[in-house]
Amino acid sequence: MARIVVLGGGESGCGSAVLAKVKGFDVFLSDRGAIAPKYRGQLEEWRVSYEEGRHTEELIFDADEVVKSPGIPESAPIVKALRERGIPVVSEIEFAGRYTDGSRTICITGSNGKTTTTTLAYEMLRQADLSVGLAGNIGQSFALEVATEYFDWYVIELSSFQLDGMYDFRADVGVLMNITPDHLDRYDHKLQNYVDSKFRILQNQRATDKFVYCADDPLTLENLGRHDRNMEVLPFGVKCTEGCAASLDGDTIRVRVDGKELSIGVDELKIKGVHNIYNAMAASIAALSAGVPPESICQTLRTFTGVEHRLEPCGEYGGVQYINDSKATNVDSVWYALDSMRRPTVWIGQGQRLLAALPARRRPGQDIGLHGCGQCEADARVRGTHTGDRRHAFAWRSDGGCGAERRSGGYGVVISGLCEFRPVQKLRAARRTVQSLGGETCRREKGPVRRFGPVVRRVPEACGFERPVHGGAGSRPVR
Ligand code: ADP
Repeated sequence: MARIVVLGGGESGCGSAVLAKVKGFDVFLSDRGAIAPKYRGQLEEWRVSYEEGRHTEELIFDADEVVKSPGIPESAPIVKALRERGIPVVSEIEFAGRYTDGSRTICITGSNGKTTTTTLAYEMLRQADLSVGLAGNIGQSFALEVATEYFDWYVIELSSFQLDGMYDFRADVGVLMNITPDHLDRYDHKLQNYVDSKFRILQNQRATDKFVYCADDPLTLENLGRHDRNMEVLPFGVKCTEGCAASLDGDTIRVRVDGKELSIGVDELKIKGVHNIYNAMAASIAALSAGVPPESICQTLRTFTGVEHRLEPCGEYGGVQYINDSKATNVDSVWYALDSMRRPTVWIGQGQRLLAALPARRRPGQDIGLHGCGQCEADARVRGTHTGDRRHAFAWRSDGGCGAERRSGGYGVVISGLCEFRPVQKLRAARRTVQSLGGETCRREKGPVRRFGPVVRRVPEACGFERPVHGGAGSRPVR
């Protein structure tokens, strides 16, 4: 009986172990750290032998194949040792993809927008009553779904870490949202390595498959020519003028795939901001490719409110709207988040790179200034006076209409994922800043602050306290 060893005992690893068991392999799972009770229970229920707190080499090196969880880097000694011995190491998606039994896949990757687009595309198929599973970096693992259920379609969110271990897997519809520098520590600090990893989304595609990409994304365009493109290509973009499967015509999104068309006004979308126009376009192309009727897609676009922790409104008090954007963890995502705000906005976050990059991306008419919270007389007129105190860095941005909105107290506070200090402190700091800008916030610890409670409780789930759970790159909040 062939032996499969699984490295890592989280969602991805346990799902792979269960699938290997169901397929009749001799299975062993090894995790160098502790395995969460939920997953220990799952392994015991499926009678998978496992170890935690160590990697016992003699139990691992006799594997015929190893399935590696995406959170474990190539540089880990155990992975290097396996490679030296010539033992194949694959990702969960590669392994599970061998057993999908005729199902088709929509696979979504990119530096930003993966979870939103994956969830939206899944909702489009589900609401049209197609048999569809949601997997990858969100929900349960692809491997567990393949082991325990059957769907005609899977919508899968793929991080670059998952793509790295994929060799023969083929996406029926591959979607590349965008590429901006991220996680370079896992790529020898070489952008090209990260770009190449993202482009694995189109490997093995055949003429009948589809590759969906953003025609406005410079890094994608620059690298497109380096790859064979036998498949049907379906670009999308808001700057796209011709040849795009999805484009913007004034304020209307138009999508056309396989002779089927839809159009919908940007105002009709529940999710806001340019980035969400991209997400809506990509999801619509994928759903049309899967045969979802155009009217049903439009209906989903009109009702889909987004995914939690992504620009999630989480309370309004004293005219100040608080927005949890704790999943924004790189410069590009923060920029898009701020760009979508229609009120003068206080951004709470930190990061030297970001603080340097944000003002540089200012567009004509936009005001982006930085100041330290230490000097909490934060004044909208103070621009570019960041104190250099990394712990207390805020960005203040307004959108021209600052005067009138300021009088009506219509501020927004965006709590970003790019920060390290405790959420409660951040909220206190936010309140001080908003007050100093003339906005109202809760002043007492009792009474109104209770209305604020959910915000305080929800933010720690993701903000600055997340670790790769199973997806690695687009990791989920620790709960
Ligand atoms: P991912 O799963 O790739 O991390 P999410 O859908 O979780 O992406 O969104 C994370 C954050 O990235 C959002 O809160 C938003 O600020 C930003 N974002 C979402 N979609 C896009 C996009 N298409 N382009 C750039 N930034 C985006």
